[in-house]
Amino acid sequence: MRILITGGAGFIGSALIRHLIRHTEHEVLNLDKLTYAGNLESLAEVANSPRYRFVRADIADSALVTQTLAEFQPDAIMHLAAESHVDRSIDGPAAFIQTNIVGTYALLESTRAYWQQLDTERKATFRFHHISTDEVYGDLHGVDDLFTETTPYAPSSPYSASKAASDHLVRAWQRTYGLPVLITNCSNNYGPYHFPEKLIPLMILSALAGKPLPVYGNGQQVRDWLYVEDHARALLKVVCEGEVGETYNIGGHNEQKNLNVVRAICALLEELAPHKPSGVARYEDLITYVQDRPGHDLRYAIDAGKIERELGWVPQETFESGLRKTVQWYLDNLDWCRRVQDGSYQGERLGAL
Ligand code: NAD
Repeated sequence: MRILITGGAGFIGSALIRHLIRHTEHEVLNLDKLTYAGNLESLAEVANSPRYRFVRADIADSALVTQTLAEFQPDAIMHLAAESHVDRSIDGPAAFIQTNIVGTYALLESTRAYWQQLDTERKATFRFHHISTDEVYGDLHGVDDLFTETTPYAPSSPYSASKAASDHLVRAWQRTYGLPVLITNCSNNYGPYHFPEKLIPLMILSALAGKPLPVYGNGQQVRDWLYVEDHARALLKVVCEGEVGETYNIGGHNEQKNLNVVRAICALLEELAPHKPSGVARYEDLITYVQDRPGHDLRYAIDAGKIERELGWVPQETFESGLRKTVQWYLDNLDWCRRVQDGSYQGERLGAL
């Protein structure tokens, strides 16, 4: 297949592309605007593959997207491009409305025009796969409740509201125009190449620098964590074998309180990075409670039974094994982190254009 991936320079998109180039024969075109979250250094190991191409474009730039579709002739589009950081959406929602809603609308229209002129056979097999989040469901209050594919939408933050809107647009483009779409809603991802503003890398890098480890509120918020490579495998299953018009929830059966995640990172660092910054007796001593995020959801947890039953996908990593790999990856790749933190990853890619 020829697969066009939007947002392929981001955390999950780059994991998906590395997986596709390493483990499949598919051809990949990465269409990415390269916002602050896009980092081509995360794709260094596949950049020279003859099956990989990159186009710098905004999904809302219909002329450039249309031209790219005509030239690349994809069999599938996997749409990951988004503004994705909840805290940034609270400080500045406009970019989230623009990319996640207006951008998805523009991409759907460019895709519809491309799809409509395909011959009957290719039209029938074409897929538009929209990648979304479990945050569209709001939060859970019962201890045993789980999000299923039929849980009503109740987003809390500008980020999750904009993703919910994009999910509705994608479903409407199928109902109204017949575009063959698939949607996946996934829990929190973690793993290598995660931007250092997100919880797990932030905690690892702050601890190594001897800085405070900021925990929102009392740290009792529960998230369901999935190792990013398990997510990439699930996405590939869905785009290849999923049923058109269906939604699949993806999760790792790894519910953890935020505070426990931070403590687990500290425990791993005690073992893997025993030489601590001066003045730090135990990494855990760096934990600092900060004022809770407004509208903070208490608990997310996914029922991933449908994708497991119907497509035979199961996560390969437990939280323990995945977190250990992640902490080790950051320890082995401090140079990548430094280049993200000091902004030099952006300078170099601009020079390369
Ligand atoms: P990310 O922020 O790491 O990457 C987003 C990518 O999209 C970046 O490369 C960025 O340059 C690109 N981009 C942003 N605006 C664009 C635009 N207008 N045009 C083209 N490219 C643009 O995000 P991520 O964590 O990799 O998430 C990818 C997708 O998965 C998102 O749609 C997100 O909502 C969804 N998701 C993420 C998680 C998670 O835990 N990270 C969980 C579930 C779902």
